[in-house]
Amino acid sequence: SSAPLGSSVIPIVNKLQDIFAQLGSQSTIELPQVAVVGSQSSGKSSVLEALVGRDFLPRGNDICTRRPLVLQLLQQTKKKPDGIEEEYGEFLHLPGKRFYDFSEIRREIQAETDREAGGNKGVSDKQIRLKIFSPNVLDITLVDLPGITKVPVGDQPSDIEALIRTMIMSYIKIPSCLILAVTPANSDLANSDALQMAGIADPDGSRTIGVITKLDIMDRGTDARKLLLGEVIPLRLGYVGVVNRSQEDILLNRSIRDAIEAERKFFDSRPIYSSLKDRCGVPQLAQKLNQILVQHIKAVLPGLKARINAALTSVAKEYQNYGEITESKAGQGALLLNILSKYSDAFSSMIEGKNEEMSTL
Ligand code: GDP
Ligand code: MG
Repeated sequence: SSAPLGSSVIPIVNKLQDIFAQLGSQSTIELPQVAVVGSQSSGKSSVLEALVGRDFLPRGNDICTRRPLVLQLLQQTKKKPDGIEEEYGEFLHLPGKRFYDFSEIRREIQAETDREAGGNKGVSDKQIRLKIFSPNVLDITLVDLPGITKVPVGDQPSDIEALIRTMIMSYIKIPSCLILAVTPANSDLANSDALQMAGIADPDGSRTIGVITKLDIMDRGTDARKLLLGEVIPLRLGYVGVVNRSQEDILLNRSIRDAIEAERKFFDSRPIYSSLKDRCGVPQLAQKLNQILVQHIKAVLPGLKARINAALTSVAKEYQNYGEITESKAGQGALLLNILSKYSDAFSSMIEGKNEEMSTL
């Protein structure tokens, strides 16, 4: 099912990330999130969009994702006066502005990308942070990253490949980050940048899910059975094969709902995949991700708690110092301290199994 697993944990985690980002330190606390990794145009943004179920990411057969996009999905079932459920996005750089039109979100991502990285294919490691509030999402944080490219184009520096690899690595090396390693089915898995980088960041494969895209455009006479079964390159958490929208579908404005339906038909009409239903399709990927995420959060909670406590202590010390310096800093420190204490308590009770929801996961 698509029940929002882990909904009691992830809002806390997201809140912390936000607070730290606001205070200018992005990775003070390492938190579980999901990042995509792969070559340019392998289908990373398409996979994320399909998981979210909405059209809002720049996609295309060129460099589209040029800054890390940190996407927090938040389940929210609020109804507008007319009874329609609210679904909107909000950027950290535009606080208070609600985007109800998702194509406007895409335009803002593009505009904000240009503001930082210029209009000519430049790349920047400065994050764009976007929250999506919706009744139809799981509470999860996803990171869309630029893809690996080898040849500099436009304003890109000559060391673009190293630059992008470093940027990707800074996300996927985090021990709590789940990695979606995206490889198109029409390229050789042994050449996969995604699996190569994931293999360095996560050598025992405990947090890497293989995603094989473009099953619809494989060479005639070939199929992805062996890839999906892990017979080509084994992966501890396995692979999921997906069919996303093609460039033509994008140009024709084909909806995500139609795309998911088309994907279902694709797999249903191919007997070769009939025994692999558990590893075919975006809904299966969402489910797999969910299960792994919940296990993962349970596993990292104790370490997280220790880090929060450490951060708490240092903030408390800083607060004492700030007290004499400036009012605003003191206020900020007090606020952070307050919030951290609250969440630290929440973490404690989760770890000790007092939280009903957590212990039943
Ligand atoms: P990214 O650079 O890895 O983020 O890749 P995008 O998601 O932007 O996709 C790159 C191009 O590949 C776009 O034109 C997509 O329409 C196309 N594409 C992605 N996934 C699939 C797929 O499963 N099948 C087909 N036919 N095209 C796909
Ligand atoms: Mg992309």
